[in-house]
Amino acid sequence: MKALAITPGDPSSLGVREIKEPGGEDGVLLESCRVGVCGTDLEIASGAYGEAPPHAEFLVLGHECVARVLDPGGARLREGEWVVPMVRHPDPVPCYSCARGEWDMCRNGLYTEHGIKGIHGFARERFALPENRLVPAGELGPRAVLVEPASILAKAWEQVEAVGGRTHWEPRAVLVVGAGPIGLMGALLAIQRGLEVHVLDKVDRGRKPEAVSRLGVNYLSGDVAELPERYDVVLECTGVPEVVLKCVDRLLPGGVLCLTGVSPTGRQVGIDPGLLDRELVLQNEVVVGSVNANRRHYEAAVEALGRADPEWLECLITRTVPLERFSEAFSRGEDDIKTVIELAGA
Ligand SMILES: [Zn+2]
Repeated sequence: MKALAITPGDPSSLGVREIKEPGGEDGVLLESCRVGVCGTDLEIASGAYGEAPPHAEFLVLGHECVARVLDPGGARLREGEWVVPMVRHPDPVPCYSCARGEWDMCRNGLYTEHGIKGIHGFARERFALPENRLVPAGELGPRAVLVEPASILAKAWEQVEAVGGRTHWEPRAVLVVGAGPIGLMGALLAIQRGLEVHVLDKVDRGRKPEAVSRLGVNYLSGDVAELPERYDVVLECTGVPEVVLKCVDRLLPGGVLCLTGVSPTGRQVGIDPGLLDRELVLQNEVVVGSVNANRRHYEAAVEALGRADPEWLECLITRTVPLERFSEAFSRGEDDIKTVIELAGA
């Protein structure tokens, strides 16, 4: 069967290759239907990131996936049911977080991640996984390719609420920085919490502002430092170092800045650490980083996307290409939101 794979570190090796079929002993047999492409995939494709499984020379890509059950193999799933495979496996030690099912908070870094770190991804025609690695997607069907990115935001919001809950807290206004898939999911989850939502991106036209206006929230374009307002929560979804730092200034007293983007390293920007300290201390502000998701977050994501307008979810998927044309999904334009590789039809 076919798979999209790379020899980590060698961008020229990225391509479709033949690999062996999964064995029935591995659990539920699944047909991979749609695989989303995100910034992590682009980093792996560029050779900057990624780790092949032990004794393998290549890594099958793809960690955002919706699949259908081909053979439940004794699991409580129906043939044809839509499911989302979870990306991260707990570390084998396991650490105290992984032991409790909170592998997203892994303490020792020995976890593995499909398509990223030490286990093959889902950009292959078929795969098999134990039932406990799968999340039923309910009525979402093929739109469940958005569940994995949404799970990241379900966790981020859980973190924000946990920090906010350190004291009596009545958040009202949220600034989401970045109108890519992560920002838009963050905005959706904020709306569902009854918050007043503002989304900022550098572009001032195209699909991103359209997607924001279809959500019925305020779209802003320009520099975060020039915004006149301050917010109870700032959700940073770009990972652009200069933008990240400026976000601290946009917090109201007691505000929470949640960082979800992964910044490139090696860039020096001038900051006044004293000013940063004064802002955080004198205003009781918190900066919290959030990555990955556990089953609770995937289930929350399925529930949140199930409450969203199906047409709005589809408008986030700006390009769908077959496996052989994977390179088109990896070359994203400024107007692209989510590009998807389709392996099997709905
Ligand atoms: Zn762990």
